[in-house]
Amino acid sequence: MGGIQGIRIAYGADYNPEQWSREVWKEDLELMRQAGVSLVSLAIFAWSELEPSSGDYRFEWLDDVMDGLDGAGIKANLSNATASPPPWFSATFPETLPVLADGTRVWPGARQGFCPSSPIYREHALRLTRMIAERYREHPALAMWHVSNEIGNHNILCYCDVSAAAFRTWLETRYRDLDQLNEAWGTSFWGQRYSDWQQILPPRQAASFGNPTHDLDFRRFSSDACLSIYRAERDVLRSVTPDVAVTTNLTPNHREFDYWSWAPDLDVIAVDHYLKAADPDAHVELAFTADVARGLAGGEPWMLMEHSTSAVNWQPRNVAKQPGEMTRNSLQHVARGADAVMFFQWRASRFGAEKYHSAMVPHAGTETKVWREVVQLGEVLDRLAEVAGTTLQAEVAFLFDWQSGWALDTPSHPSIDVEYRDQVHSLYRSLWNAGVTVDVVAPGADLSGYGLVVVPSLYITNTGTARSIDEFVAAGGAVIVTYMSGVVDDNLHVFSGAFPGAFRDVLGVRVEEFFPLREGETATLDDGSRASVWSELLHLEGAEAIASYVDGPLPGTPAVTVNEYGEGRAWYLATRLEQGTVDNLVQDVLRTLKIRPPIPMITAPAGVEATRRTGSAGSYLFLINHGVETAHLMAKGRELITGRDVAGTLALRAGAVAVVREETG
Ligand SMILES: [Zn+2]
Repeated sequence: MGGIQGIRIAYGADYNPEQWSREVWKEDLELMRQAGVSLVSLAIFAWSELEPSSGDYRFEWLDDVMDGLDGAGIKANLSNATASPPPWFSATFPETLPVLADGTRVWPGARQGFCPSSPIYREHALRLTRMIAERYREHPALAMWHVSNEIGNHNILCYCDVSAAAFRTWLETRYRDLDQLNEAWGTSFWGQRYSDWQQILPPRQAASFGNPTHDLDFRRFSSDACLSIYRAERDVLRSVTPDVAVTTNLTPNHREFDYWSWAPDLDVIAVDHYLKAADPDAHVELAFTADVARGLAGGEPWMLMEHSTSAVNWQPRNVAKQPGEMTRNSLQHVARGADAVMFFQWRASRFGAEKYHSAMVPHAGTETKVWREVVQLGEVLDRLAEVAGTTLQAEVAFLFDWQSGWALDTPSHPSIDVEYRDQVHSLYRSLWNAGVTVDVVAPGADLSGYGLVVVPSLYITNTGTARSIDEFVAAGGAVIVTYMSGVVDDNLHVFSGAFPGAFRDVLGVRVEEFFPLREGETATLDDGSRASVWSELLHLEGAEAIASYVDGPLPGTPAVTVNEYGEGRAWYLATRLEQGTVDNLVQDVLRTLKIRPPIPMITAPAGVEATRRTGSAGSYLFLINHGVETAHLMAKGRELITGRDVAGTLALRAGAVAVVREETG
């Protein structure tokens, strides 16, 4: 039947009734009915209300809220309320507060004030989880469980002694004996050889650069420690209600998690996404995050658990959304596979740290742009109900690796200007500009079925990942690889021989030395384009040069190459090219491979997005115009938002969205 927990396209928000009187609760239910709300995330920050002192539980108010929701036909995505321990907890157990790299123990007073490895936190969190699970296991409003909130966002890296012990246990599991660890970390450098496990600490603030593999393993451990909290709380919920789905809201834009390892543990993938107000093309970044969510979901529908109706409160300048923008953002997520559109939060808070964060019910009430649009969006999602459960198909795989991001973002590299996300967003942007749909995949993923694999700065490349790309190209696939890929293995050891180690054969090049450019320096290529940030002393070993330097530190040296390898081809971008140059190159490659957007665009001004969701219910074309001019697009079928028939072409005005159920045959 499709949809999340039996709801076609779920619509709603975080609901925090503990901030409001019972009179307001009544109004909430009436307004939720008007808006078409079907699902609310409840009790996320309610620990101090549910357990105001240790072991003193107060569930009556939550019983009433749950009963009220049930009476109104609204389902609860009920939280186990462990996101923020209460003041009594921190006062009783100050040793559970997180410690920074410099040894400072943070004070309570914000949220997530706990060490992810603390057994005391875990004991109390699991006790509360069991109480909530037992109390609401049979409640008719219960649709799914929401574990904690944005686990680890503020506290993932804790350097306390408890974390140190947990880190050592994690390392003993990974390496088994100390010689293996010394080998992996390269401790013969700078005299760092460990002779006892007890000597190993988290990478606390030291006199100079730390050991990079030590740092990488600490990040791996920290991501796993947060995942371990989720698993423990999930297991309690599952033991009480084996048939109720469990999830938690992931934050793919936060850099510190390897969510590829989390995804199998979530019954449904849920993500939070907030536009960056300073980014004029934030819709491209939105598309990327939505594609990451769909990648984590293995192509299945996923939940947009939080976004905003308008401004947020936590950026330097919190820009309000223009009329239509909230709807456009919401439907862009649906266009990329979301079967739920949820917000933080239902009603704007009058107090607290997020009182200037927008909500479905603004401070100014219902005579507002936001409320009118909230009601309209509810109606639109209702008209799109049949889309639920359908999926997207892509011919391009986009290889994304949080760990390469961690490793490249640490100091002591050839250039501070080499940024993982810079290359990720540049290549993704070119694919978005070309209008093709991409699947975001993990290193080592099955690549069969794709025509093109894009590999931005895959710094860490183990032999399995390298082999999967080699075999893909040898069998006729195409790959685009950018600089700083294939340089080190899982332990951050440089591949012997020459760069780009793991990709030398498939790319047909040999790089003898890196030549990073100075800040602001550019070099000219013989096709007239300009390079910045990076260059390499590159020799062709089978590849052909597409463009070479005419000036800069390496005149005459190839900067962009292509190699015939087996039945396929491999392009290498050995420098940072301007966006327009990357766009042209990617479009040439797509044209060669006959990979096209979902529909031909008759006139397609910049900023038009098209995706297709298909399933047994039908084929649905999503058309979104982020630009400033009307676009004329080919489509035939019934437009579901307006209910009008589209005979062959559709004029999509600036800012508008159309969803066409396509005629088949
Ligand atoms: Zn700790």
